[in-house]
Order: sequence, then structure tokens, then C-alpha cells
Amino acid sequence: MPEGPEIKRSADELSAAILGKRAWLVEFAFPHLAAHAPAMREQIITRVEPRGKAMLTHFGHGQTIYSHNQLYGQWRILARGQAPQSGLQVRLAIHTDDSVAVLYSASDISVWPADRVAQHPYITKLGVELLAESTRVADVLAQVNDPRFARKSLAALLLDQGFLAGIGNYLRSDILFVARIHPHARLIDLNAAQRRSLASAAFELTHQSYQTHGITNDLAIVSKLKKQGLSFGRYRHWVFDRDHENCHVCSGAIERIDVSGRGLYWCAHCQRN
Ligand SMILES: [Zn+2]
Repeated sequence: MPEGPEIKRSADELSAAILGKRAWLVEFAFPHLAAHAPAMREQIITRVEPRGKAMLTHFGHGQTIYSHNQLYGQWRILARGQAPQSGLQVRLAIHTDDSVAVLYSASDISVWPADRVAQHPYITKLGVELLAESTRVADVLAQVNDPRFARKSLAALLLDQGFLAGIGNYLRSDILFVARIHPHARLIDLNAAQRRSLASAAFELTHQSYQTHGITNDLAIVSKLKKQGLSFGRYRHWVFDRDHENCHVCSGAIERIDVSGRGLYWCAHCQRN
């Protein structure tokens, strides 16, 4: 499942292709949305906005398409006249003069007046959005210090988009590793220094992953591993997807446990507290 950094990069690609352009045709695969299409014709796409793992595409006449990719949805930009990829279902297509933005496979799509889309049930529940331009480490720390979240294990809490929006499975493991925090610890168990480490690791790793197309590992270590011939999948993370491999810090073995139904990777030596 894409995480915040992948959604934001997808929004960047969408923006580059359709922002400020006129949609001469908008097609919805779902019949209950088709009635919105005629009014979108000839409208300018005024903003493409990632919110958590959802995307908002705003049109000049004040209507907004909400879409959430869930597990299988993906945006692709096609040249005008290029056929969609076979085997994938086109759920939404926004045609401009030179390109077509296609959303494949997603089923969670709806149309909202722009001034009401913040009331979408998914968006109202979002916590601090790590990749929003206005978000600072201090905002993340304030959330970490909010007593509402104090008693849930961090392994579960970090996947809760109502806490910090944008974190998914690979970020969860690597944030806990960088902050040197045991996956079963709760916020109430952490001292002030650990809370600051957690807030800063969540902020920094999410931004680094956005800027580097998915690398959460230390960039000096990455450059060393690349010289040794390791592939992207093997050098990109501190601990995620590295069970039985050696920790980059202590050389101990990385372990995998299942938390909230998904694999969490950690170093028992480095994450003792
Ligand atoms: Zn270690």
C-alpha cells in the first residue's frame, strides 16, 4: 500500500500533467458519479492536493473529486490518444489537451463541493499530516504529547492515520528504529527525550522518503551499500523487510513480528526501551 511519500509524489506527477489545464472530458466508471461529469467539462483543474493517503482534485467550478487508492488504486498519466493499460479497470479519467490522468482500480471515489470536502469522514479523522507544507516538528511533538494517544502501543498507533497521517508499514518500522524505541512501548512509557526523538524521526524519515523516492536508511550508509552492489530493495531501509539480516548500527540480527496484521521489523539490541 502506498504511504504518504508515494501519495505526495503521485500528486506531484498529477499536478505536472493537469494542473492549470482545462478538462475537456471527465469520465467516471461508476454510474452514480456520472451525473457530475458534464459540469466538469471545460473546467480548469485548480489544485491537486494529497490528504493523508487520499487525493483531492479541485476544479474551477468549485467541485472536488475525492479519491483513495486503498490497496490497488494507482494514478497514471497517459499521452493523449494512448490506450489505457490492459487488464486494469479505469475508474476515473481526466482528459486535457495533451494528456489523460487515469485512476486505475480504486473504488473509493466521490465528488464534493470544494468547501465541504473537509467533512469527508476520512479527512475529518486525519491527525497531523507529516508532509503538509505547514507541518513542523513541533506540531508532531504536540501530537506525541497529546494524552489521547498515550496508552496505545506505538506499533499500532503509528499506523493510525488519526495520529500521524502519512505513515504506513515501512515508515512505522524505520521510525521506531531511528528513535530507538521498542515496538510495544506506549507514549506514556517514554521520557521527554524519547518523545522528541520519535517526533523528529517521524518527520525527518517521511520527508527524506518523499525526497529520495522511498529511502529511509541513512544516506551515507546507502552510498556505501550501493558501492557494494546492493539493490534498491536491499539498501533502502534501516530495518524494514530485513529480517535475519544484520542491523546497520550494531550488526545484530533484525527480527520480524506481526503487529496489527502486518510485519514489523526491529532490532532487539538497539530498541531496548
Ligand atoms: Zn541494532
